[in-house]
Amino acid sequence: MISDIMGVALIDKLERECVLEQGEFAKLIRGRTPKLSDYLAKRARTIRSQYYGNDVYIRGLIEFTNYCKNDCYYCGIRRSNKNVERYRLSKEQILDCCRMGYDLGFRTFVLQGGEDPAFTGEKMADIIGAIRQSYPDCAITLSFGEHSREIYALWKDAGADRYLLRHETADAAHYRKLHPVSLSLENRMKCLMDLKELGYQTGTGFMVGSPGQTAETLAKDMAFIHSLQPQMVGVGPFIPHHETPYAKEQGGTAELTTFMMGLIRLMLPNALLPSTTALGTIDPMGREKGILAGGNVVMPNLSPVDVRSKYLLYDNKICTGDEAAECLHCLKNRLEKIGCQVAVGRGDYRSAAAQPSESSK
Ligand code: SAH
Repeated sequence: MISDIMGVALIDKLERECVLEQGEFAKLIRGRTPKLSDYLAKRARTIRSQYYGNDVYIRGLIEFTNYCKNDCYYCGIRRSNKNVERYRLSKEQILDCCRMGYDLGFRTFVLQGGEDPAFTGEKMADIIGAIRQSYPDCAITLSFGEHSREIYALWKDAGADRYLLRHETADAAHYRKLHPVSLSLENRMKCLMDLKELGYQTGTGFMVGSPGQTAETLAKDMAFIHSLQPQMVGVGPFIPHHETPYAKEQGGTAELTTFMMGLIRLMLPNALLPSTTALGTIDPMGREKGILAGGNVVMPNLSPVDVRSKYLLYDNKICTGDEAAECLHCLKNRLEKIGCQVAVGRGDYRSAAAQPSESSK
């Protein structure tokens, strides 16, 4: 533990300067107390509301394939898991999901999937183009892993606006503990640079409590995120999946996840910061806690109900049996109870130059 006075001083410095030394981050993370977490969450809420008011953006998540060529040790849909019933959505099914989402008020669609080689660069470009044409007023986000710069460029030209690619950990040895040798932190980072340079609103992030994670590796994550300056940062707890090598490991906590969200909000005041389904899975009030720690995005599921229980990255995932409309209704109620509201519109990143607005100062 560190003294509250020292902790508050570090949090205030982070708010003022939007960065800390790596050692300071580690000290704050390692030494955090409930009192400091409370203080951090309050500051994070204030900053979030200066930029985004009490608006929470919704993103319609379409899990379009659970085939994956990778074998990440933590992930339930890894190639080696032979007990997954694999599926792919057709272009028509994906467009149907968008239609339903659009009618419910979604203006961002997130196409997420395992790295499925059946969805080639051209095939994806065709799907992205079709969504772009049918929904010119919507944002298209991809969360589809590592690809070449040329392919990322092709998808951007086809109409994609945003890309989510968590770096998972910025520590090379820790990265190796989580991934087989066919994947490298170096390539992950290169992909993130490419995405940013190509003009995607880019999201990165990491799991909290993944096996081998320490205050020092988390401090490295903060330093990496600071250097990347992404528009979005996804952090959620690691949750063991029973059919992975890490089945018996401990999962991450809501407490540390929300603490990290608070730090990220102070470091990147205008970032889009989801309160994740994983956080809602380990704690019945998890998503609310994430919003109260500075989050401003939720990502309800738009996947067809019959495939939901096949896209399980971790155990006990919530909302796998609910229709999208029910999920949205439930989330709206939950957010209202904590003084927030679901915002209509694309919910694009607001650059620091454009904000804070006069009205929200
Ligand atoms: N294949 C794509 C997108 C799907 S995975 C990609 O690699 O980017 C989306 C995110 O889910 C991953 O980045 C990872 O951080 C998270 N995830 C995977 N397995 C998890 C687990 N067991 N617990 C919590 N989050 C997990």
